[in-house]
Amino acid sequence: MSKILIDLIKYRDCVVSGCDKKLPEGIISTFPERDGLKPIREMAVFAFSCRRCEDAPCIEVCPEEALKKDQNGMIIRSTNLCVACKSCVSICPFGTMMTDFYEYKRDESRYFDLNKSSELEQFINESPEGFVQYTEQDKDEDNNIFELMPGVLVCDHSWEELKKLK
Ligand code: SF4
Ligand code: SF4
Repeated sequence: MSKILIDLIKYRDCVVSGCDKKLPEGIISTFPERDGLKPIREMAVFAFSCRRCEDAPCIEVCPEEALKKDQNGMIIRSTNLCVACKSCVSICPFGTMMTDFYEYKRDESRYFDLNKSSELEQFINESPEGFVQYTEQDKDEDNNIFELMPGVLVCDHSWEELKKLK
């Protein structure tokens, strides 16, 4: 499987500065615990930059009990329960989530299965230039390069790093 690197730091900075670039959504069809169709960008945010708050106001505010923690304290959203009210987005004190995770009606023409080489190619082609690329490198956590799953590296701030800045 080809390895790709998704630069979420760059993408988040772009979104915050008001750019209109949109990443397509990559999914992994064989991911066993996806709990509904799960974009890898959402999994990456919960895995790396979410600060895993002890009291987790996002879980408390959710009217549909769509959010829970796994055994490592990582947030998981049940896509099929979520009604896209975005209360969790508003209440998160750290701006962890990007509002476009929560679409009531998904545009599945923008979802690409990264296990299929033709869809992986399309995913890269439809990504704004510089946000997703093939790579030969390995994970390098000291430089914010994390492995989300085999074949998918993500450049993001880690929640442990962000917690130290508090
Ligand atoms: S957007 Fe979904 S996960 Fe978030 S609070 Fe609303 S129902 Fe819950
Ligand atoms: S999503 Fe936000 S509120 Fe929820 S645990 Fe992560 S950092 Fe805390």
